[in-house]
Amino acid sequence: MNIHEYQAKEVLSGFGVPVPKGKAAFTVEEAVKVAEELGGPVWVVKAQIHAGGRGKGGGVKVVKSIADVKKKAEKILGMTLVTHQTGPAGRLVKRLYIEDGSVIERELYLSALVDRATSRIAFIVSTEGGMDIEAVAQNTPEKIHTFQIEPIAGYSPYIGNEIAVALGVKGDAAKQLSKVVKSLYDAFVAKDMSLLEINPLVITKDGNVICLDAKLNFDENALYRQKDIQALRDLDEEDPAEVEASKYDLSYIKLDGEIGCMVNGAGLAMATMDIIKLFGSEPANFLDVGGGATKEKVTQAFKIIVSDPNVKGILVNIFGGIMKCDIIADGIVAAAKEISLKVPLVVRLEGTNVEKGKEILAKSGLAITSADDLADAARKVVAAVKGSK
Ligand code: ADP
Ligand code: MG
Repeated sequence: MNIHEYQAKEVLSGFGVPVPKGKAAFTVEEAVKVAEELGGPVWVVKAQIHAGGRGKGGGVKVVKSIADVKKKAEKILGMTLVTHQTGPAGRLVKRLYIEDGSVIERELYLSALVDRATSRIAFIVSTEGGMDIEAVAQNTPEKIHTFQIEPIAGYSPYIGNEIAVALGVKGDAAKQLSKVVKSLYDAFVAKDMSLLEINPLVITKDGNVICLDAKLNFDENALYRQKDIQALRDLDEEDPAEVEASKYDLSYIKLDGEIGCMVNGAGLAMATMDIIKLFGSEPANFLDVGGGATKEKVTQAFKIIVSDPNVKGILVNIFGGIMKCDIIADGIVAAAKEISLKVPLVVRLEGTNVEKGKEILAKSGLAITSADDLADAARKVVAAVKGSK
């Protein structure tokens, strides 16, 4: 789960991480009020969306008067901000963050993540802060340094020192940097983060270390014990169909293809998507209905799949293990009737009570095509979709 920059800065400052003073604003009037409270002389008006690259897209403006805070707030609030992370459709800006402007000497890059290869938290740093780190990794990989944290020992001051050396930070700033790294590490562990990115981490003209941007990502499996973080979720930033799916405990991810998939089990769902591609089409979604799918869940899953206008056909691929095929077939028939399904539907059932399940589908009076195996199912649904064009 992602949160906004202003929320991330609040979380981090709770761990003693230095961030500029600032406050969120939901209207232009609020933005002006916050700017007056901050007092200037330099303010930064920042669009709050769950995507990076806002500066380049026109969503971050440094200004020197309250009148300009107002002007920029009017411009940014309500704009559709397009960045390299939003995709071409962009994101509607509904929140702003107004903060003190810093006088920047150097912009550095620092992030932390769970490195799956080593099962350790790793810090990644670079002197090339403030820019697209993917481009740095591609063009000048030698400018990126990684530091693993030994989980038993935890954070040790020498890591902070090594990071300061790698970044060419010396003297008092190096001491501050080491403290910042320690606080970030504490926050990362305590809040079950999966990613923390400070880009840029800056050294100001007067020699202080400050986090000017903050992007945090949290491990969703741990959210049950992070209620304060859970409360920061902004559903406006998530795909509406994915939000709807999560209400029914369905793992749904929207994709760009034309064949809607309803599958049980993540592995089978991946295999289904692969085989659709193999037969020359593209999946419209990933959808795992889980092991204990009920009739209601199947109906909701159908509704979510057909709410995507790109869907030209549906492939149901279910292995009835814990769930019996006849129960699934009942669910499919009921759901197809309830939503008066208009696109071709191919169903491949396998497992417990498969014969009963197939009989239910055949007797339903609905135009459901039964398939015997994965390849047969994919071939049939792709043919149905291509034929219907
Ligand atoms: P994004 O990464 O989405 O573009 P940032 O918060 O990193 O957004 O802002 C982009 C750039 O704007 C920064 O690299 C920095 O140069 C400048 N900036 C951001 N916040 C401040 C601030 N408080 N004071 C001065 N400059 C800032
Ligand atoms: Mg940034």
